[in-house]
Amino acid sequence: MAHKIAIIPGDGIGAEVMNEAMKVLNVLENHYSLDMNYDVFDWNSDYYMKHQRMLPEDGLEKLKHYDAILFGAIGDNRVPDDVTVWELIMPIRKAFQQYVNFRPVKQLKGIESPLDNSHRGQIDFVIMRENSEGEYSDSGGLMFQNQEKEMAIQNSIFTKQGINNIAGFAFDYATKHHYSKVTSATKSNAITHTMKFWDREVGKIADAYRDIDYEKIYVDALAAKFVQQPEEFQVVLASNLFGDILSDLGSAVAGGLGISPSANINPSGAFPSMFEPVHGSAPDIAGKGSANPIAQVWSLALLLEHLGKEDLHDHILQAIEELLSDKTKVTKDIGGTASTSETGDELVKILRDNK
Ligand code: ATP
Ligand code: MG
Repeated sequence: MAHKIAIIPGDGIGAEVMNEAMKVLNVLENHYSLDMNYDVFDWNSDYYMKHQRMLPEDGLEKLKHYDAILFGAIGDNRVPDDVTVWELIMPIRKAFQQYVNFRPVKQLKGIESPLDNSHRGQIDFVIMRENSEGEYSDSGGLMFQNQEKEMAIQNSIFTKQGINNIAGFAFDYATKHHYSKVTSATKSNAITHTMKFWDREVGKIADAYRDIDYEKIYVDALAAKFVQQPEEFQVVLASNLFGDILSDLGSAVAGGLGISPSANINPSGAFPSMFEPVHGSAPDIAGKGSANPIAQVWSLALLLEHLGKEDLHDHILQAIEELLSDKTKVTKDIGGTASTSETGDELVKILRDNK
């Protein structure tokens, strides 16, 4: 049966790079017998200006019936940042219980890393970030509201279920993808309640996976190791805040925002998962035709892998690596001279030729 995907291009370069991902989708349908139906939704900042909301009232209900969501990027100076986040991205993540944020940190052939020459081996690991609780809770407030004694408290909420879900996913993923080690980011020497609980619960899950080595490293040391020995990592497991920070560091060491994909996963499959580039709408380069579409196309590859089309994922990644071998075919951010659409066209050509 044909898979159904929902496409939300969004604002700025989000919509521009989505065009290129859709070209790739078309070539897969026409030449690789991909059976896929998709609908495009115009829920972006223009929509907000017209309707004073990011999503229509039945938006989530509509999305629920898709197998996956391909998202571009959202953000526009006419709409406050917290509106785009809290009215579009967060409702989707929450309603569809996308409690895993997954990011590959892989230095593709042909991509320069700021770490080149300073380490040995291949940068190729994945980060599993808890995406629904932990440090990012809306619990807390300003206390003692007179000027002398004012203070703010922000609560971190870690649940047994939440930790078990993300840790279970990480170890399952490691098993399925033949990784031999999971590294957990912790800080239980200083954050004595939540992080000790995290260590205890992750440790219990680790015990159930005898074939996978488990290590826990303090997040400060772990960040240094991302830079000094990135080749050491396989699967990195982290809470919401630590994962957020490590993911951006990971993206930087592997070659930058223009190529970094991500996935918000609902492991149960009860609701759609959402795939999006790490970058935002980048108003500074929007409309210039210079945005790199690789992060968006790689996000599409992750979507296809998630739907069981591992072969198509691999074809796309191979095409991206072939593309990267010729600097005239890629965009300026990674040292090339091509435009967004020239890059997409070249990817399409490679995919067609490789069939
Ligand atoms: P938003 O507010 O939507 O997050 P932003 O202004 O924070 O947008 P990002 O998209 O997060 O911008 O990226 C930061 C910078 O990185 C941009 O200003 C842009 O120059 C660069 N950048 C991001 N994505 C790409 C891309 N796909 N291709 C080329 N450059 C990019
Ligand atoms: Mg941003």
